Amino acid sequence: MKVCKFGGSSLATAEQVMKVCAIITSDPARQLVVVSAPGKENDSDTKVTDMLINLAETFLREGECEKELMAVVGRYERIAEGLGLGNEIIRDIENNLRTRISLGFDNSEKFVDRMKAAGEDNSARLVAKYLKSKGYNAKYINPREAGLFLSDEYGNARVLPQSFKNLSQLKNREEIMIFPGFFGYSLTGEVVTFPRGGSDITGSILAASIEAEVYENFTDVDSVYAANPKLVKNPKAISELTYREMRELAYAGFSVLHEETLSPVFKKGIPVNIRNTNNPIAPGTMIVTTREVKNGPVAGIAGAGGFMSINIHKYMMNREIGFGRKVLRILEEESIPFEHIPSGIDDISVIVRKKLLDEDKKSRIMERIAHDLQVDSITIGYNLALVMVVGEGMLRSIGVASRATTALAKGGVNIQMINQGSSEVSIMFGIDESDLDNAIISLYNEFF
Ligand code: ASP
Repeated sequence: MKVCKFGGSSLATAEQVMKVCAIITSDPARQLVVVSAPGKENDSDTKVTDMLINLAETFLREGECEKELMAVVGRYERIAEGLGLGNEIIRDIENNLRTRISLGFDNSEKFVDRMKAAGEDNSARLVAKYLKSKGYNAKYINPREAGLFLSDEYGNARVLPQSFKNLSQLKNREEIMIFPGFFGYSLTGEVVTFPRGGSDITGSILAASIEAEVYENFTDVDSVYAANPKLVKNPKAISELTYREMRELAYAGFSVLHEETLSPVFKKGIPVNIRNTNNPIAPGTMIVTTREVKNGPVAGIAGAGGFMSINIHKYMMNREIGFGRKVLRILEEESIPFEHIPSGIDDISVIVRKKLLDEDKKSRIMERIAHDLQVDSITIGYNLALVMVVGEGMLRSIGVASRATTALAKGGVNIQMINQGSSEVSIMFGIDESDLDNAIISLYNEFF
């Protein structure tokens, strides 16, 4: 059995849904299908998930959201009409939304999650209905009935371990199962969602649970590219990547897969195939456990802004046992994860994501480090971007860092920090956000 996941752009219009159904039914192994909510029909359009967030926020603010509700129903109506489905499904979708609004709630996050999840839930009902109308044995699967249980972290849920065993039962079923992505249920029965883009995570959990032959992730590109096609003209298409390479690239801004997607499939060694709904004959990119390194040391270049560094200086820091632990403990107590810790003998920088540090947290952390650790100076570096050179072939390959730094120098990019883990699968450069595009282009030109 294969697990296939279709993203929002693959479900945005009736025409797209028809392509999705043609792909599903062209291979009898494609039996477990995960769908996103309808995405944008065109560039100026809004994703259904964003419409639902707006609906929920309007309701919380104003106590009503009729206009927003009818706009969401309208999106599904256009798709259903194009598919030749009757009014019944539209009435069902409208009722589904009204019921969600009318159910009480004791906190706003719970309500927003319940509304957000309606996008995928109704998308799955619609696709199942269309397949049935064409004579296929298809069924909408409810994540609660199937046993997809998540932590009760609204908007940021994690899968609970018992879900894998529950979901493994799906492999005994005969129908084409249409499973909504992006959400599951807490143990107390509330709807909880993954982070944005989380339908990828649902697909990965299902693939791991049923030990799928492959997890096919259908999107709107032919393959993963060695650099962002918006920056580099005709970048090299990648036919094979390892999980580690994909994880590093996704971390640093490759938006093809949600960052957390690979963990469940990686543990089971299930291959992931990124493919294009609009060009299903293209073989796409395979993500696998190991690969033969054929085309040079570097597989791809990625970069992302939105980071900041907390730079701490203290004379004789290297002799002070426990210094690093004390810094990280202060961050831990503020629930801030760290990304990298480049250091020198008297310096340590902790790189964190800017969006996680509000002004209050930031000043508490600064004060505590200055006061509790008696440091000589503490400063914040804003506008930090990370650019990563990634490739399994870099292991024991001499001169990659030299080529990368030379390319950055030629591009006029100042390197603020450098970090390479012992796996040698990536080299990270910390640079100013304003240099990011230039850095990616310079590195791409050097290695490809
Ligand atoms: N519909 C959700 C979002 O827009 C989840 C997804 O598409 O994966 O984030």
